[in-house]
Amino acid sequence: MPEARILIVEDEPKLVRLISEVLTAVGFATLSTARGERAVEMVALEQPDLIVLDVLLADQMDGFEVARRVREFSSLPIIMLTAKARESDLLRGFEVGADDYLTKPFSSKELLARVRAVLKRSRQEVTGQTEAEISCGPLRIELARRRVTRDGQEIHLTRTEYNLLHELASHPNQVLLHEQLLTAVWGVEYRNDLDYLRAYIRYLRHKLEPDPANPCLIVTSSGVGYMLECPEEV
Ligand code: CA
Repeated sequence: MPEARILIVEDEPKLVRLISEVLTAVGFATLSTARGERAVEMVALEQPDLIVLDVLLADQMDGFEVARRVREFSSLPIIMLTAKARESDLLRGFEVGADDYLTKPFSSKELLARVRAVLKRSRQEVTGQTEAEISCGPLRIELARRRVTRDGQEIHLTRTEYNLLHELASHPNQVLLHEQLLTAVWGVEYRNDLDYLRAYIRYLRHKLEPDPANPCLIVTSSGVGYMLECPEEV
């Protein structure tokens, strides 16, 4: 049994071949199509475990439309491929229900990391595991008590600081866009208030980072967002 079946939707044969080789080398099975309409059909008929979906398809239906159509009947994870770090593309991708994105060109390592992370998240959701706590390196977040410790030492956070940390920790090792974080923590009407976010990231770093000037837990993805960096569990 393959580890998971992955549908690749991309109109550049070379890239399809490359992605497929990377994935099958580690035990995934792949199927592919260059056409948007066909991709939607294949999701319904073949029931893959994940889609790697290019935004630009030489087809009437682009990747956004494919994602939107798929979301009408399926919650399977979608990783979108974008040509470059165009924030508008990323946001649009999330709006239509993509789970993550990869910017071209990407390395095989990045591809595998995203695929595994997204599959892991979706499996946790499927089994309905509501974790009682989240661990990330030296940090532990006890969700029921809204209590945070670092190396066993309790750290007092304000409500907003806690909410921001919780949001970051719910998607470890994943860059969350400024707008995503602002919307999740403050509400959609604050999604452009980057100053709020910067201030609270600074507060959190002061409380959590060993050296706030050189953050190693809450890392900046310049111009895009922030990520909570957690060592991989083995
Ligand atoms: Ca393409």
